Amino acid sequence: MRLGVIADDFTGATDIAGFLVENGLSTLQLAGVPSGGELPQTDALVVSLKSRSCSAEQAVADSLAALTWLREQGCDRIYQKYCSTFDSTPLGNIGPVADALLAALDHDFTLICPALPVNGRTVYQGNLFVGPQPLAESGMRHHPLTPMTDSNLLRLMDAQGRGRTGLVPLNTIAAGPDAIAAALARLRDDGYRYAVVDTLTEQHLLDIAAAVRDWPLVTGGSGLAIGLARQLSRGQPLAARAAGRPVPGPCAILSGSCSQMTNRQVARYRTLAPSLALSVEACLTEPDYPARLADWLLSQGEGPAPLLYATTAPETLSEIQRQYGVQAASEAVEACFAAVARLLVAAGVSRLIVAGGETSSRVTQALAIHAFHIGPQIAPGVPWVRATDRPLSLALKSGNFGDEHFFSTAQEAFHD
Ligand code: ADP
Repeated sequence: MRLGVIADDFTGATDIAGFLVENGLSTLQLAGVPSGGELPQTDALVVSLKSRSCSAEQAVADSLAALTWLREQGCDRIYQKYCSTFDSTPLGNIGPVADALLAALDHDFTLICPALPVNGRTVYQGNLFVGPQPLAESGMRHHPLTPMTDSNLLRLMDAQGRGRTGLVPLNTIAAGPDAIAAALARLRDDGYRYAVVDTLTEQHLLDIAAAVRDWPLVTGGSGLAIGLARQLSRGQPLAARAAGRPVPGPCAILSGSCSQMTNRQVARYRTLAPSLALSVEACLTEPDYPARLADWLLSQGEGPAPLLYATTAPETLSEIQRQYGVQAASEAVEACFAAVARLLVAAGVSRLIVAGGETSSRVTQALAIHAFHIGPQIAPGVPWVRATDRPLSLALKSGNFGDEHFFSTAQEAFHD
C-alpha cells in the first residue's frame, strides 16, 4: 500500500501531510511533480500543485500529471485534497479534477468529504459549516479569488461536476462503517457519481475512512486523512517528525492572506513585533519595492520576527480590487512577496512564516524548493516543514488556520 495525495495548493498539502504523519504514515511533500532524483522511501507522497484558482483545463492537466507520477511511484490509493472550505467556482476546479481522476483510474464513483471538525469545518444535510456559520455566511463569502456564496455541497458539485451527487446523511454516518459502506454502495448502484458525507466529529471521519479504505480515489479536505492514515498504518505516530524540525537562524513573516483569522493574527502580532504594511500601488509601480521591503525586514535585528503584510479588511480589499482589478492586484502582491522571499533567503534568512494559501505556493515556487520533511505541528493543519536539500524551514498557513497567537506560537517551536 502507498498513498498518493494530489493537493490543490501548498498550504493544503502541508496541512494533509501533517495529519498523515501525526496518524502514523511517513510522508514526503513535493512541490509539483518532481523531474527526477532519488526520494526517501515513505508510506505517503503528497504532491502540491497550484491548481485551486487557475483554469479548469490547467488544473486537470496538472492533476493528471501528478496522478501519472504517483502511480509510477507505486501509489495504489489516490486522495484528491482541496480546502476544507471547498474553495472553488462554478467552473471548478474540484469537480473537473475529480472527473478527470475518475476517468484516468477507470472508476465511476467517489467521496466528497471536506470536513475538518477540529477546525470547525463540519457538514450537515450536505451543507458545509465554518464554526457556527454556514459556509456562505462565513468570511469565505469575501474571498478574493474563490468567494463561496452557496453552502450546499450537492449544489456546488452539481455546478462543477459531470455527474449526480448524493448524500449519506448523519443518521447513517452515526451508524458506523458498515452502514456507511452500504449507503455508499447504494448511491453508486443508483447511478450517482459523487457522495457527500455528513460529518460532525472526528469519530465520523474515522468511520467514513474505514468504509472507503480500499477505494482507488477519495476526495476531501485534510480531515479524512486522519482516518485514512489510521486505517492504512498501524496507528503508530512516527519519530519521522524530527526530520522536519525548524532549523536555526533568522526568521521573517510574510502575510498575504485577507481572511478574517489572518486579519486578527496580524492585528495581534503588530502589537508585539516590528511590522510593515505592503502598498499595492508600490508593488505595481516601483521595480525596486521588493528590495526596499527586504532591506527593512533584514534591518530589524534580534527579537520577535518582523512582519510584512498585505492583509487587509474586506472593505479596503474591495476598494483596491476596484481600483486595480482583482487579478492584477493579486498578481502584484503575490509577485512582490515571492521577490521579497527570494531576497531574504539569499541574505541568510532560514525560517519563513507565510500566511495565505496562494501566497505560500508562490513563495515556495520562487524559492525553488522541491521536497519537504514534515515537522512539528504549530496548529492543527499547520506543521513546520523543512526543505530536504538545504537548511530552510517554512511555516505555511492557509487563511483561516491557527488562532490569534499563531505568529508567536510558530516561533515557540524554535525553543523546543
Ligand atoms: P487565503 O489562504 O486567505 O485564501 P491566499 O494567499 O490564498 O490567502 O489568497 C489571498 C489573495 O489575495 C492573494 O492572491 C493575495 O495576493 C491577494 N491579496 C492579499 N492582500 C491583498 C491586498 N491588500 N490587495 C489586493 N490583493 C491582496
